[in-house]
Amino acid sequence: MSSDLPQTTEDILAADAHLVQSWADLNALKQTGARTAIVSAKGVMVRDSDGNELLDGIGGLWCVNVGHGRKEIIDAISKQLSTLDFYSTFYTFTHPTAAALAKKLAQLAPGDLNRVHFSNSGSVANDGAVRILHHYYERLGRPSKKLVLSRHGAYHGSTYLSIAMTTPPYSKGWSRAEGIVRHLRKPHFWREGGDMTEAEFLNALIDDMRTEIETVGAENIACFIQEPIMGAGGVIVPPKGYHRRAQDLCRQYDIKFVADEVVTAFGRLGHFFASEAVFDTRPDIINIAKGVTSGYQPLAATIMTDEIHDVISGPDGVFTHGMTYAGHPAGAAAGLANIALMETEKLPERVRHTGPIFENTLRALGDLDIVGEVRGSHFMMGIEFVKDKAKKTLFDAGLNIGMRVARKAQDKGLVARPLGHILILSPPLTLTEEQIAQIGEILRESITEVMGELPRGAF
Ligand code: PMP
Repeated sequence: MSSDLPQTTEDILAADAHLVQSWADLNALKQTGARTAIVSAKGVMVRDSDGNELLDGIGGLWCVNVGHGRKEIIDAISKQLSTLDFYSTFYTFTHPTAAALAKKLAQLAPGDLNRVHFSNSGSVANDGAVRILHHYYERLGRPSKKLVLSRHGAYHGSTYLSIAMTTPPYSKGWSRAEGIVRHLRKPHFWREGGDMTEAEFLNALIDDMRTEIETVGAENIACFIQEPIMGAGGVIVPPKGYHRRAQDLCRQYDIKFVADEVVTAFGRLGHFFASEAVFDTRPDIINIAKGVTSGYQPLAATIMTDEIHDVISGPDGVFTHGMTYAGHPAGAAAGLANIALMETEKLPERVRHTGPIFENTLRALGDLDIVGEVRGSHFMMGIEFVKDKAKKTLFDAGLNIGMRVARKAQDKGLVARPLGHILILSPPLTLTEEQIAQIGEILRESITEVMGELPRGAF
């Protein structure tokens, strides 16, 4: 660490008073300050400013897929910066690294998803997808196709438009481009299924979607956007067959099917892209970020079909969209090196083996009294805590049940992410079977201790 950086926890926190955290209770932070300063990382471990070594159970923020401190990526970034620090991909400019990454992504992406527009974050990639589709329909002479179908429970980012596509409670107290978005039902059978069978619930979801399309009119709808597995909304896996049926409906009504694969791509579910390999769909656009560089550099992309590209690249019109750092040389170098590492180490294949072990290790926690549902797939998992298992009743929000368990886990050497009454686990994909077992043990101990400490009558 450079010597002019604050070294002690006290000095870091003093400087941190100037930093406005994202997605935080800023008032609480004013009283308590940040809880954890992470100062270094290697493999699946991070180190805090008090010298504690912690297992990174959340992969940074569902992004450090190949693990921390990988020399191959760091060297590639460094070499790139000393060759070409920056040039843009605006106007008629390009550079070899962005061009090579675009080609590589086109090869990895399903079907004719061959055209890649870079940006810097998942929010912007999602925002961009809608802008591009609006432009596409304008050019086709169908300017009324503007609405976006999204879902309750979705998380698509926090720009003005992507937060509008995100589930409404997340934008409470904030404005958003709400006029553009219609939210469909959350596809969560365990919570929303009521007395229905899973097959009936799936039919109900698709019927609802059809009704919404017919109510607002397909001529007014540009696209349906979906995370194949909802992430920040609580790791929700829709019923089997849902994705394909939703896509079929989109095709029937001429609505573009957009996949937000910001979390699900780059190995987290055992494949470079999950849409086709896992969910049997061929989106018109796939948006990526996070795992494409394993978080070593900010880079995102909106990957579109040749058909969309043909329309937006037709005569008489300029593509008036793009950010200065789109395809930044350092980001593109990180992306290429990260993908090369994943290919050499056969990381997606490895996840197809270790992912189910991780999944089963966490599912085994389902025998604990306050664990309502353990859900997810491979290295994208969530644990929902309940006060009453049979009735699925939630704990009082004031008990901060997720945070209690996360704090215990951190004291025992594991970083997990609390989200209200849910705990999220999205570790690096390089986790060994031994480390998987260790995570299971820490969580079991943490949840059991929290159960013992809850006030009488809390559950
Ligand atoms: N989509 C999904 C599914 C996400 O999980 C996230 C971030 N967690 C985003 C979009 C937004 O990405 P970013 O924070 O890079 O803007």
